[in-house]
Amino acid sequence: MNSLNPKSWLIAAGRPVEPGSPLNVPPMPASSYLAGGDRHYSREDGTPTTTALETIVGGLEGGQSLAFSSGMAAAAAVFDTLPTGAHVVMLDEGYQGVAGLAAAGVEKGRWQLQRLAVDDTAAWCNAAETADLLWLESPSNPLLTVADLKAICVAPRQAHALLVVDNTFATPLNQQPLILGADVSMQSATKFIGGHSDLLAGILTVQDVALLDKLRKIRTLGGASPGTLETWLAVRGVRTLALRVERAQDNASQLAYFLESHRAVEKVRYPGLSSHPTHDIAAAQLKGFGTMISFDLKGDAETADELCTRLKLIQHATSLGGVESTIERRGKTPGQEYLPPSLLRLSVGIESFEDLQADLEQALVRA
Ligand SMILES: *Cc1c(COP(=O)(O)O)cnc(C)c1O
Repeated sequence: MNSLNPKSWLIAAGRPVEPGSPLNVPPMPASSYLAGGDRHYSREDGTPTTTALETIVGGLEGGQSLAFSSGMAAAAAVFDTLPTGAHVVMLDEGYQGVAGLAAAGVEKGRWQLQRLAVDDTAAWCNAAETADLLWLESPSNPLLTVADLKAICVAPRQAHALLVVDNTFATPLNQQPLILGADVSMQSATKFIGGHSDLLAGILTVQDVALLDKLRKIRTLGGASPGTLETWLAVRGVRTLALRVERAQDNASQLAYFLESHRAVEKVRYPGLSSHPTHDIAAAQLKGFGTMISFDLKGDAETADELCTRLKLIQHATSLGGVESTIERRGKTPGQEYLPPSLLRLSVGIESFEDLQADLEQALVRA
């Protein structure tokens, strides 16, 4: 697809080529275009900034991308490809929104749902034989369990079956599911691709042209096309993805060790720690261990809630993947009540490690 190192591709791709053009594709607030050109209506054809974003991310993931108005809109488009009565297999943890979408379809009688543990590789390989849709998220939200994608992607599946990997937590820099044999890689571009907590967008990347066409039709009919401002911001944000991930990942691995040795902490879940249940798979499969850490405090939900309010540099807020570090207690999220009550999910940003450590230390001392 492209011979550049991803770090260079991020900078070089998706730019205008006509002499006299601006270096970056500017936002294009337009719904309709004069007849006879490549675009005629933005809901169908996207705007130039949407195309730029799709070019950049497609090259990173190793396929062709379609951008959506949010990660959930992208996920919903995949589910819309299913015939009535389909057999859906999904991880038993993971992003609560997609799990909610899958459960809503069961209630309406649209499909049947089977849920499997991310690390039960044999069960996934077995289910692949009969599934119409296999939905994985790896590393998963928020336990950061890493699926053995290498094994699951090559397990025999029906010709029409779709194996989807929500690649949001890994980013296409740390993991390329399509190269491993998945059919669809999904990004909530709201997170690392955008990187600044200022937009909502989603991206699907596929290699099969017929599938791309099908998903594009679903996007057009469902009206889930992103706005030009959002995709312009996402392009601007994604240019620094490599720098941001590198720096935040470096912070995260140091913080994981710091937290693991802290007396107020019960358990740290970070794929880079040898104590993580899927550390070996992570080490074999991911280019980096990521910027997300989940840790359980000694104590209860209240202990964890209080810690969030004592942090000063680390923002108490939902979501992840921004330049700013954010933290929240995930068990309070509707749909994630099954989690340990004191589990905190930390999205590590690009601040100085020493400042992040000091902020956690002052808050933990009183925990
Ligand atoms: C945020 C998120 C989504 C949903 O994306 P939105 O952009 O919020 O719609 C899906 N999967 C994962 C892993 C996420 O973190």
